Amino acid sequence: MRPYKYKSTGIFFHYQRGERLKDFPSALEGILDKDNITYCDALYDFPPDSIYDIPPVPLSELYQVHSSLMVEQVKQTGSYEGVLYSVSGTLSAAEKVCLGKITNAFVFTGYGDHHAGRNFFGGGCYFNGAAIAAHIIKKTYSVKRIAVIDTDAHHGDGSWDIFENNPDVLYLCFCSGRSYEKNKNVNINVPNNINDKNYLDLAEKAFEKHINPHEPEIIFWNWGYDGTIGDYGDIGLTPEFHSMLALKIRRLAEEVCAGRLITVLCGGSRRDFAYKLIPKIIKVLAHLEDPT
Ligand SMILES: [Zn+2]
Ligand SMILES: [Zn+2]
Repeated sequence: MRPYKYKSTGIFFHYQRGERLKDFPSALEGILDKDNITYCDALYDFPPDSIYDIPPVPLSELYQVHSSLMVEQVKQTGSYEGVLYSVSGTLSAAEKVCLGKITNAFVFTGYGDHHAGRNFFGGGCYFNGAAIAAHIIKKTYSVKRIAVIDTDAHHGDGSWDIFENNPDVLYLCFCSGRSYEKNKNVNINVPNNINDKNYLDLAEKAFEKHINPHEPEIIFWNWGYDGTIGDYGDIGLTPEFHSMLALKIRRLAEEVCAGRLITVLCGGSRRDFAYKLIPKIIKVLAHLEDPT
C-alpha cells in the first residue's frame, strides 16, 4: 500500500442543455469555497461568468478508443460538442490526479460513458470518457493497472466491449445481468429489487475479491443514480444509499491506490435527486461530511 495523504478534490463542470443539472453550480454553495476544493469549468451553450480551464480532448486519441466510423456518426447527432466537454472533464480530472494536483474528483457530465463501445453507442452515451481517459493516462503517465467500477443500474455493454481484451483494466459492472467474468471484465448480478445494505455488502465482497488483488493505481467510478426508487432504473435503492457507497469507494481507493479516484456522473434523470445527491457525494470525496 502506498503512503496516503488526502490533498484535495477536483470538481469538473460544464454548462449544458437539459433539466437535470439546472441547479448547478449554485447547488454547490458551501462547498466551492473550501480550501481543499479545486473547481474547473468549461463553457457550453451559453456563457455565464466562468473561466474556460478544461483543455479539449486530443481528437487523435478518440480514434484509439472508438472507430472512425463511429466518431463520424457521433458528429452527426448534434451532441458532439457536449460529448467532448463531458469527456474532457473526465480526462482533465484523471490528468490532475496523475500529476498529484488533486487526490480525487467529481465530474459532471451531460452524457454517460458505459453504452459507448468501440464501434457502437446508445442510451445517452456517445463516447466513453473513462475509457478515453484510461487510454491516455496509460500512455502519458505510465499508469499500468486501472479499475473501473460501474454502479449505474444498467449493464455497461460499451465499457465491456472496450475493456474486454485489456487485462490491465479491471472492469467491474454491477447490474441485473448474470454474474460472470472474462479477462478482468467482471459482471456482478444485482437483484432487481435490493435494499441499501444488501447492495453495500455485495459491493464490499466484490471489491475485496476483484479490486484489491488487481492493485489498481487509479480507480474510475461510473456513478449513476438511476437505480434510486422513483428514477428510471429503480432497483429499490434509497437516496441515502449513494453517499454510503461513495464512502465505501473512497475508502477502497485510499486503501489500494492512495485515494486516487475519479467519480463520473452517469445515469439518473431526476433533477431533485441530482440536487440532493451530488453535493453529498462531493462532501464525502472531500472529507467534509461522511454519512452516518
Ligand atoms: Zn443506467
Ligand atoms: Zn453489467
